Amino acid sequence: MTYSAVPALREEPELAAEWEPRVTKPSYDDGALVGMAMTEKQGGSDVRANSTRATPNGDAWEITGHKWFCSYPPCDAFLTLAQTPGGLTCFLIEGRDPGFRIQRLKDKLGTRSLPSSEVEFHAVRGWLVGEEGRGVQTIIRMVNHTRLDCLIGSSAGMRWGLAQAVHHARHRSAFGKLLADQPLMQNVLADLAIESEAATAATMRIARAYDEGDAPFRRIATAVMKHWVCKRAPGHANEALECLGGNGYVEESGMPRLLRDAPLNSIWEGSGNVSALDVLRALAKEPEALPAFLAECELGRGGNAALDAQLDRLREARPDDPEFEARRVVSELALALQASLLIRHGRPQVADAFCASRLDGGTRGAYGMLPPSVDAEAIVDRALAA
Ligand SMILES: Cc1cc2nc3c(=O)[nH]c(=O)nc-3n(C[C@H](O)[C@H](O)[C@H](O)COP(=O)(O)OP(=O)(O)OC[C@H]3O[C@@H](n4cnc5c(N)ncnc54)[C@H](O)[C@@H]3O)c2cc1C
Repeated sequence: MTYSAVPALREEPELAAEWEPRVTKPSYDDGALVGMAMTEKQGGSDVRANSTRATPNGDAWEITGHKWFCSYPPCDAFLTLAQTPGGLTCFLIEGRDPGFRIQRLKDKLGTRSLPSSEVEFHAVRGWLVGEEGRGVQTIIRMVNHTRLDCLIGSSAGMRWGLAQAVHHARHRSAFGKLLADQPLMQNVLADLAIESEAATAATMRIARAYDEGDAPFRRIATAVMKHWVCKRAPGHANEALECLGGNGYVEESGMPRLLRDAPLNSIWEGSGNVSALDVLRALAKEPEALPAFLAECELGRGGNAALDAQLDRLREARPDDPEFEARRVVSELALALQASLLIRHGRPQVADAFCASRLDGGTRGAYGMLPPSVDAEAIVDRALAA
């Protein structure tokens, strides 16, 4: 969140000049941490329902209201939203302001080492960020970057879980053989490896688009893959945990923490439905978005017949009820991008197995249902050097 605040802060050059050198310092002593306080009791996804108010006071504003979710309370500053006569507006506030009152810390399922809070603002001093009335458009600059971070975090979690699962299976024997040599365990491990590699490939491609400023692709690809990878992560963590058997259920293995933390990225910065609807919005409002996304997927055409068919279907797709079908549409886009990237940048065994198991209505529910044509051993070997 700290780094993600920079694009929003840059809407106000004076604020950016003051804060950017601090937030980009990789030191807790003289650096600064920035969080976010948008969500209210009556408005998390629908932040336009926010009731916190800001009134002008001298060269700044005074903000009064409550936030049902606010980030890590010791942050030096927060970006927040408040209603002004001009509409919902983005402000920067400081955590040390005497009017910034922490009500309590959330008792959370996971991510417990990084507290989240409930706060009240009692005439907190705020500085305008972006235009009055365009708060959502301003804070979305931060949100888009934290969505990229959700993608990076979920992909990293998959990779960590996979490494634990493969390592365990290589050292634990059951029924006279190492688990890693049992055909059904190979199927599960290979399936976890394919998912992890596909998530990582998509994450890296999208991160590159941020570095290169490739706006139309970046906008839609972040929304599509944030939805899909973050949604796949909890099932992946669950299956990786199970590879360790009973030990995976015990805290010392680290796997319970992975599983508890996994659902979060799919909830915040756009819960599943909201992130899928966000893709529809981008498709409707930004005429360059879908062509940019499909152009990237098309680079893999010819590499696998199942991807070619998937791309043809996507070009012809005209959902009867787009909102009702949003999750399905988004998953088809996500799978096309992942397949295309694996075909171009991965090993053929991985790309072929991905296409055979995930395109055209393949096995997308539980893991470990790869077809026999897949070279599971080669995929697991690649996933973790012995
Ligand atoms: C650990 C944690 C940390 C957080 N940190 C922060 C933070 O730092 N700052 C901050 O501001 N917020 C934070 N949040 C809040 C988070 O962003 C919100 O909880 C999230 O955006 C969802 O809002 P909500 O809880 O009000 O749920 P709701 O908006 O009530 O949504 C409930 C469900 O309805 C679905 N839904 C909503 N609209 C539609 C629709 N139109 N069609 C179909 N389905 C729909 C959603 O997908 C969701 O599944 C955090 C949350 C958690 C769990």
